[in-house]
Amino acid sequence: MKIILASGNQGKIREIASYCDKHEVLPYTDFTEKFEVVEDGATFKENALIKAHAIYDKVKEKIDTPFVVLSDDSGITVPALGNIPGIYSARYAGEGATDKENLHKLIDTLKEKGIERTPAYYTAAMAIVTDRGDFTVHGWMHGNVIAEARGDKGFGYDPMFIPEGYTQTLGELDADVKQKLSHRAKALELAKTVIGTLK
Ligand code: IMP
Repeated sequence: MKIILASGNQGKIREIASYCDKHEVLPYTDFTEKFEVVEDGATFKENALIKAHAIYDKVKEKIDTPFVVLSDDSGITVPALGNIPGIYSARYAGEGATDKENLHKLIDTLKEKGIERTPAYYTAAMAIVTDRGDFTVHGWMHGNVIAEARGDKGFGYDPMFIPEGYTQTLGELDADVKQKLSHRAKALELAKTVIGTLK
């Protein structure tokens, strides 16, 4: 079964391919030109489905072997700040903002509210669009965010996120620790089970 990823991001492709070694994992850009999908859903799940459907429709004209499209949408949620940035995580500091700008905006927001540390969680929603219908799964990673950036490993909000049971941020912890705990790894484990039942 070919798994076509609704992402051209090399990091994501490598990460997902390493988890799904029984399948051929390919970026959608191997089949069609790169294009922008307007992610205007109200939840991570809706956005993952919007992306996967847009790509499924384009790819199905170009391929005659069995395939599924796998897409993910993810972000970080801070309940003490009214559940922000949530689905806006990638553009919290504005459209086209860098990971660093988003990170520092969240740190500044915590500081403005006088919060040094507060619970937060990452969510990953994955949509699997197939000729037999749609499937969605989720994974979460809980912990705390702090009002400073520590370490330079990981990406995005990792330097301010301390996973539950740890004292260091994901910016300081080794990548293999994150691999075991991550929202994406948990969602992917479930997605693999779904894909395995499709054959
Ligand atoms: P997506 O690529 O549209 O799913 O956007 C995800 C955004 O959420 C990224 O730009 C990051 O800001 C944030 N994010 C999602 N997962 C992680 C993670 O594992 N570490 C750090 N930031 C993450």
